[in-house]
Amino acid sequence: MEEQREFLFWSDAKAQEIINRKKYRYVDKEIPEFKEYVIKSSASISGVLHIGRMSDTVRGEAVVRSLKDLGKNAKLIWVAEDMDPLRKIPSGIPESFREYIGMPVSRIPDPFGCHKTYAEHFVSDYFEVLEKFVGVDIDIYFMSEEYRKGNFNYEIKRLIENRDKILNILNKYREKKLESFNPYQPICENCGKIITTKTIKIVDGKIYYRCEDYKFEKELAKGCGYEGIADPLKGEGKLVWKSEWAAQWHRFKVVSEGAGKEYIVPGSAFWINAEICEKILDFPAPVPIFYEHILINGAKMSASVGNVVYPREWLEVAPPELLRFFFFKKIMKSRSFSWRDLPRLYDDYDRHARIYFGLEKAENEKEEKHMKRLYEMSQVNEIKPYIPVPFSHALMLVQIFPNDSAIIESLKRSNHYVEELHEYIMERINHARNYAKKFVEHRISLLSDANIVKEKIDDEQRKFLRRFADWLSTSRSANIEEIHNMIYQIARECSINTKKAFKAIYLSLLNTTYGPRAASLIASLDRNFVVKRFREV
Ligand SMILES: [Zn+2]
Ligand SMILES: [Zn+2]
Repeated sequence: MEEQREFLFWSDAKAQEIINRKKYRYVDKEIPEFKEYVIKSSASISGVLHIGRMSDTVRGEAVVRSLKDLGKNAKLIWVAEDMDPLRKIPSGIPESFREYIGMPVSRIPDPFGCHKTYAEHFVSDYFEVLEKFVGVDIDIYFMSEEYRKGNFNYEIKRLIENRDKILNILNKYREKKLESFNPYQPICENCGKIITTKTIKIVDGKIYYRCEDYKFEKELAKGCGYEGIADPLKGEGKLVWKSEWAAQWHRFKVVSEGAGKEYIVPGSAFWINAEICEKILDFPAPVPIFYEHILINGAKMSASVGNVVYPREWLEVAPPELLRFFFFKKIMKSRSFSWRDLPRLYDDYDRHARIYFGLEKAENEKEEKHMKRLYEMSQVNEIKPYIPVPFSHALMLVQIFPNDSAIIESLKRSNHYVEELHEYIMERINHARNYAKKFVEHRISLLSDANIVKEKIDDEQRKFLRRFADWLSTSRSANIEEIHNMIYQIARECSINTKKAFKAIYLSLLNTTYGPRAASLIASLDRNFVVKRFREV
């Protein structure tokens, strides 16, 4: 059974888990049948919606697709947590915005002046690009609007009335027990901040508060000293996180949601909300999709460290399906990404494509099934064909050839070009071009004058190159594999160390001692040019 599960694609396993659940977790009660399966994703709007944040939505979407494939009615919703306060000034935002720290992002002006609010700016900016990564429709909700419209009034009322029960749930997991708990945080009527209001008392469902300083990790939200009374049913604030999550599940009828693996532990906000959701709101706790966070070069993505990868940047060097592929490979294994690894990720993806289209066999049937499903789920809409140009090959071409037509000519020479795939091939070439510009440190270029390297090549190498040129001139149709094997064979025949033989090839063509795969390089160049060069150096 375990083995079965392991080979089942993770989102299909998750979909089955969602459908098969029978009982509540914390209450002895049967789960009713759902007519619609809602998967929720959300983000706090701090201004940096990087690929890590996006992964939550993309993974949620995969579960929606799996549920649909099992014949269920399923949808994805995305909730903007825009009542959350601004905690710090992200890079690129004016210093003057410091005065807004502690205020809900939905009440802060757009620093760029093109939208109504700070939150709207970043959400619309994000969705413009998110759409390219997600293949299903997404219903979007803004918490500020939800509260303003009173859509959460039922939950707010119930949660405030049952605040002592929530206190008990919270205290089960705390060493230092809380004495009281208020699930609702009002906005200060005087200064507009939300994080600064401290509850004095709750009378008849109204919150009496005082506005006091609040210390974030790095920033301070200044309180104004104002004392006021807020009516939670009039949208004058928000629920606190350990109540709000439960309220959202109840209100949107959520069956599953993603969360970082730090939420797995008992007593985490996820499980506390799960308990609140079942015991106080009488709604079954959703099935969590726990995942490992994506690291960049082994470190957490952080705008201040400057190692953030934005979805827009990704699209300059790779298609959306490649990032989905990266997200979907074992989701609970630690995932570190480095731009340096991108060519290898492409190779892995291409191998899955070959298996999907039956051009290659996997080690066994189970693995094959899994790889096919992974490839299929990585696609956004249409299933893209296998692209017969390895990224590393494309990367070489964009460095040694001046333009697209020279590249296409080369691809034809090396048997990489397929006319029907022109668009896909050119997309890959463009991605490689952008990647080379941004991330390739030691670029290569074709050596134009053979005289420059003559002195660097010794007689042994020269003999090898001449022999190789003879073979090339008579084997015009030799493919990459044949060229590759022949490099070894001729090196053996000339009794030259293969390392030295490869160096001779790179020196004579690129004036470097290293290079891309030598056989690919030779196959991509004009054969007469190569023969002439190997004879003249
Ligand atoms: Zn704007
Ligand atoms: Zn205030």
